[in-house]
Amino acid sequence: MRCDVAIIGAGMSGLAAGLRLAQFGRSVVILERHGMWGGLNSFYKKDGYRFDVGLHAVTNALSPGYRGPRIPLQRIYRQLRLDPDLFALDPQGFSMTVFDDATLRFSNGLELLTQEIAERFPGEVDGFRLLGERCAAYPDSMVERPFVSTRAILADFIRDPLLVDMILCPLLYYGSAHENDVDFDQFKILFNSIYREGFCRPKEGVRRILDVLVSRFRESGGRLLRSTAVEAIEVRDRRVAALRLEAGGVVSADVVLSSAGLLETMALRTDADRVPPGPEVPGELSFVETIWVLDRPAKELGWEPSVAFFNRGSGFSWRRPEVFVDDTSGVICCPGNYRHDVAPEPVVLRATHLANHRAWFSFDPPAYDEAKREALKISESAVEAITGPFTSHALYRDMFTPKTVTKFTGHRNGAVYGTPDKRRTGRTDLDNLFLCGTDQGFVGIVGAMLSGIAIANAYVLSAKGGEGA
Ligand SMILES: Cc1cc2nc3c(=O)[nH]c(=O)nc-3n(C[C@H](O)[C@H](O)[C@H](O)COP(=O)(O)OP(=O)(O)OC[C@H]3O[C@@H](n4cnc5c(N)ncnc54)[C@H](O)[C@@H]3O)c2cc1C
Repeated sequence: MRCDVAIIGAGMSGLAAGLRLAQFGRSVVILERHGMWGGLNSFYKKDGYRFDVGLHAVTNALSPGYRGPRIPLQRIYRQLRLDPDLFALDPQGFSMTVFDDATLRFSNGLELLTQEIAERFPGEVDGFRLLGERCAAYPDSMVERPFVSTRAILADFIRDPLLVDMILCPLLYYGSAHENDVDFDQFKILFNSIYREGFCRPKEGVRRILDVLVSRFRESGGRLLRSTAVEAIEVRDRRVAALRLEAGGVVSADVVLSSAGLLETMALRTDADRVPPGPEVPGELSFVETIWVLDRPAKELGWEPSVAFFNRGSGFSWRRPEVFVDDTSGVICCPGNYRHDVAPEPVVLRATHLANHRAWFSFDPPAYDEAKREALKISESAVEAITGPFTSHALYRDMFTPKTVTKFTGHRNGAVYGTPDKRRTGRTDLDNLFLCGTDQGFVGIVGAMLSGIAIANAYVLSAKGGEGA
């Protein structure tokens, strides 16, 4: 099979890149290992219930009547020629960060968070306002630069270590591949995405966004091949000559975009043993996620936040835990607590905790099942300590682990945000192979879509005289 552009992976970045290119008349093939598209943000059916794999929140909410510099969601709508109503996004009510000694609520826009900081940390609110100003502009996403420690920079704005950790906790959970810190440019992106613009959610969950991307891609002439794993990237004369498929057959393309991850993509190369190893290492940060189906809306049990980030004990630790599941911190998400006019079905509560991928990958099948049961109990008691009792209303439980993340993404170590060493330009040492998605540096649903668009613009459309970003 021949095409202009072949894309490895039908996650958010691969789909957005594919749609952008197909709309410009390129012949595009997306090759997806799984039977379903969406990557880490897919959906599945189990025992009669329909679940999203990972959806807590779509970041970068666009407030009605927003006037100002173009923000990420507007860029996506414009670049993919989508009517904003198609994703059917509703805003959050409010979210919060709960530590032993303080709670801070936040919602879309910085007002509520600023007010809460003024009440709980009065001496810090001016510093927080200045931090907001310092973060106001988005950095250029495609420029390589050395890591700059956010913790070092925050010390110039915020003195109280509790507030530093409380500001960081949601942002690290939703987008840092670095242990215990985050690059300052990435921090600015996350600050704007989560605090300034805020959270929203598609009425029908992530399948709504995926349906739009996939149907538009096909209508634009793109081909999406499911259950089609790329087994090898054949390299000749510093170029990808062809992609060899696991099921047999080859695809050749002028340009190849890969959303499979930096190290994972390099390992597929037929010359992998001759490529000198780079400094990049696999990420260490992975999650377990617990899902409860409840017999009634969480609000009826007295739980109102859309998303809650919690931490117990002193200091917030964002690193691979020693134990298989770390119940000292987590994220609790309640899809029914968004401002939807019709409550999502089933009623679900989800919780995410850091997990030790080494432990999970070392378990044999019986030990793995036992560990899941144990992790579920640990998660339940940690979450109930924050939300109050709810498990007597649980009709069904499901859980996924670092092994599941690897299954859905191919990422080593189940590393949700990939390697800490991002390739912001998307370039590799091969002339026609580029990275998009997680390891290009933009994470999350919105970040991954923007990454796909930016890489398509930079290396296919601009290169051939099409419309740039
Ligand atoms: C528990 C959890 C909750 C999350 N919640 C949110 C949230 O609420 N909001 C948010 O914005 N983000 C969330 N995320 C993060 C978000 O899901 C990811 O950042 C984003 O989906 C990454 O998209 P991507 O296209 O870069 O990569 P991926 O989704 O990893 O897609 C890569 C695709 O490539 C395919 N692939 C890999 N190798 C091959 C191969 N050899 N051949 C063919 N195909 C291949 C994979 O099967 C996969 O489909 C969450 C993640 C997790 C784990």
